[in-house]
Parts: sequence; C-alpha cells; structure tokens
Amino acid sequence: MAQPFELAELPAIDGEVATDDAGLARAAQDWGHLVQARPRAVVRPAHAADVASIIAFASQRTIPVAARGAGHSPFGQGQAEGGIVLDMTGLARVHPGNGDEITMDAGARWRQVLAATLPTGLTPAVLTDYLDLTVGGTLAVGGIGGASHHHGTQTDIVTALEVVTGNGELLRCSPEVESELFDAVRAGLGQCGIVTRATVRLRPAKQRVRCWTLYYDELGAFLEDQRTVVRDGRFDHVQGQPVADSDSGRWRYRLEAATYFSLPDRPDEEELLGELCFDRETAESQDLAYSAFLDRMAQGEELLRAEGDWFRPHPWLNLFLPDDEVESVVADTLAQTKGADLGDSGLTLLYPVRRDRLATPLLRVPATDLVWLFAILRTGSTYDPCANLRMVELNTALYERVKELGGTLYPASALPMTAKDWRDHFGDDWQTLEVAKHVYDPAGVLTPGQCVFTAR
Ligand SMILES: Cc1cc2nc3c(=O)[nH]c(=O)nc-3n(C[C@H](O)[C@H](O)[C@H](O)COP(=O)(O)OP(=O)(O)OC[C@H]3O[C@@H](n4cnc5c(N)ncnc54)[C@H](O)[C@@H]3O)c2cc1C
Repeated sequence: MAQPFELAELPAIDGEVATDDAGLARAAQDWGHLVQARPRAVVRPAHAADVASIIAFASQRTIPVAARGAGHSPFGQGQAEGGIVLDMTGLARVHPGNGDEITMDAGARWRQVLAATLPTGLTPAVLTDYLDLTVGGTLAVGGIGGASHHHGTQTDIVTALEVVTGNGELLRCSPEVESELFDAVRAGLGQCGIVTRATVRLRPAKQRVRCWTLYYDELGAFLEDQRTVVRDGRFDHVQGQPVADSDSGRWRYRLEAATYFSLPDRPDEEELLGELCFDRETAESQDLAYSAFLDRMAQGEELLRAEGDWFRPHPWLNLFLPDDEVESVVADTLAQTKGADLGDSGLTLLYPVRRDRLATPLLRVPATDLVWLFAILRTGSTYDPCANLRMVELNTALYERVKELGGTLYPASALPMTAKDWRDHFGDDWQTLEVAKHVYDPAGVLTPGQCVFTAR
C-alpha cells in the first residue's frame, strides 16, 4: 500500500513533475491495456541526479516508484499505484561513441542508438524486432532478437551501467566494479535499481542483408532446420514463425533467415540453403539495406496503427522451451489455438538460441543446449474484457504446463505471477536476488508492477 504524500513534499528537481489527468491516465496504461494502476505523480527527470533525488525521497517515505520507458509492457510492469512513475524518455541522450562501445541514457530508444552507430560503420550486435523500445526497458527483461543465437541477449552485450539504487544512490557498475549490482540489474525486472545510462559493445555493421523466407509444412522439419542453422551459425539472423493458413486453418511454418554482407561480396545461396528441407517452390528472398532490415517492423506498425489493432489489449505470452520438449508443446499448443485465441493480428514466433551464448544470471532459461523462444502474441478486444481474461487464462495454463517440463518465462508477458511463482522462476538465483533486493532496495519501493516482492 503506497504511503500518501503531498506533491509539495517532492524534492526540487530540474525535470518536470506532472499530475494532470491525462499524464496520470497514460502512466496507468501500457501496451497490454490489461492492468491499470494510477500513480500520484509522473516525474520526467532531466538527469540522473533527479532520479536519485526522487528515489531517495520515495525510499524514506516508502512510496512505490517505477521507471517507464516506451510503456510497451503487457501487464502493468511499469506502473506504480499511488506512487511515482519516472518517465525515462526525458533521459534519452546518446553519447559520442568510444571505439567499439557506445553509451546512452536509459530512456533512449534502440532506433536512436542505431542512428548514432551506423554512420560510424558499427551496430549493437543484438537488437529487438522493434526498435522503439527503450534501452532501460529491454535491459530490465533481457532483449532478445534474431541475432541472439550468436550474441545472446542485449543484457549480454552491456559492458557498464549507471544505476540509481532503491536508496537513491547513483552507482556505476560493470563486471569488474559493483558486479553484484551489475548482475542484479540486468534482466532484474527493475527490482534493485533504475538504470540511467548503459554502455554496450558494438560490432562492425555490414551494408546489406539478404533475407530468405522459407516455408515448411511439417513442424519437425522446420525445427530440425532451425537447429542445424543455429548450431552451425551460418546465418546472422534466424527467426521462425508458425503461421495459420487462413483457407485451410492448417499451420505452416515460416523461417526468416538472413545474412549480412557488404558489396562486392555476396552471399552464397547454394552453400547457405543447400541441404535445408524447405518448400523450394514457395521460398522468397529479398535484399535490403541493413538499416531497413532492422526496421522491418515499421510497415507493420503503420498498418496496425491505421487499423486500430496497435491500440487494443495485448495478452502476450513469451516462454522459453527446452529443446527436448519443443515439438510436443508447440504441436499441442498450435492444435488447440484457434483464430479467436490469437486475435485478428495476433502471431506466434518460435526460434532457438544457443544457451552457451546466454550469460545474464537473472535471465532464466531451460537447461538444454538449445532453448526456444515461443511467443504467442495475442491481440485482445477493446470491448470484451472477458475475451481478454480468457486469453490471460490460456497464458496461465500454457505456462503451468511448460514450467512442469522445464520451460521458463520470458517476463515480457501478460501473466499473473505470485511471489511464489517468482521464487520458482528464479530457482537457485532467488536467494541472490532476495539479498540484492535487501541491499539495494531495502524499503522495497522499486518497480512494484512486476509483483516480484509485492502483490498486485
Ligand atoms: C511491438 C513490440 C515488440 C517487441 N519486440 C521484442 C523483441 O523483439 N525482443 C524482446 O526481447 N522484447 C520485445 N518486446 C518486449 C519488450 O522488450 C519489453 O516489454 C520491454 O520491457 C519494453 O520496453 P519499454 O521501453 O517499453 O519499457 P517499459 O514497458 O516502459 O518498462 C518495462 C519494465 O522495465 C522497467 N524499466 C523501464 N526503464 C527502466 C530503467 N531505466 N531501469 C530499470 N527498469 C526500467 C519498467 O519499470 C518495467 O518494469 C516487444 C514489445 C512490443 C510491444
């Protein structure tokens, strides 16, 4: 329960404090449109010292505080009932690059980061499918994409962070300095600190991308080809997508496999696709500029905005499946998934990542050498809360099954989680997280919307 406070009691800051109805209503919402928690104030910090002052105040008064990046959480993860939401988009500077690293404020979007690195011929090694997420928002969960089978998650390419802890202390951390904090914050669901700045490793960017879209009728062949190409690393980007055929209702499987190159070099198609078992009659390929490939969601976004689906509820579920269970879980789930369970513009993703590339302690994944991201990205109804509730219940049922089989949650999901669920989720690392919470956020004020240490 948030302690009531008067706005006049807030410390003086250089940033802005908003309490207008529209601002509070916006902070009470997110991409999911499933959970609403209205804060008492929205603070738009001008710099990290503002974040520190506000959190120090909140900690002394036991007032919940949540950072809000792009607000693309599906289930209230960035909300703070009766408390303070820090609108991090005011802290969005990308700082001049330093060799093969770049530092940016946590409210910067990955699109801005890319815009700063590409002119120097460099790129973050891993990007999410959608570039308008903030650095702080994806580092709170992991940040996974089609290049993760090579480079891990975005939390794996971070080399240093500037963090305000729940005490209001501004600290720098890295694998060498304050490493406990570094490990508690990456994929730490905002429980131990609010990231104000991050430094990530860059790689040389190629100019162009050849992207093949390969179709499969059989789930087994689709999985086997993904295993092959992810294990041998022949493509730079791999993402699978089960797709329901609108005429027959049958599921087909689409593999998006891409190779980066710079002219005059060109990818050797025969060598890359040679023994794969896709349907050769329906395969497609296209060449794109590297930046256009990374921004490939832009067109879809425009369409969804125009049709209104972008603004509807999104009961999304993201899971990691163990390699030895992926086929049966996916086959059963898809067989039971009807159009209404996904919604009009809903979609599914299914692609593997090599576990040896994942090195973020709090990112929980199954124990097999390949782990599969299985995303069920449902679009709900603006007018029928019961339909949305049903979708969330489907998420819970699938999560319970997957958990029994050794699967884990990727927490950018619309899933009610109890404190016990989180304890089970973090398993051996729960105690480490609990100790870190006690050290870095002793008043327990940070990021209540994740419900890790507080009930909704
Ligand atoms: C269209 C779309 C596409 C997506 N694609 C991908 C994808 O390809 N790969 C992937 O991994 N995920 C993807 N996601 C999920 C997304 O990465 C997560 O939901 C992410 O947390 C949202 O980032 P955000 O900037 O919107 O943060 P918010 O939703 O604002 O915040 C997310 C969580 O992080 C906390 N937080 C925000 N900023 C900070 C900070 N500076 N310090 C500490 N905690 C902070 C918030 O309090 C909240 O708990 C996608 C989501 C959408 C809507």
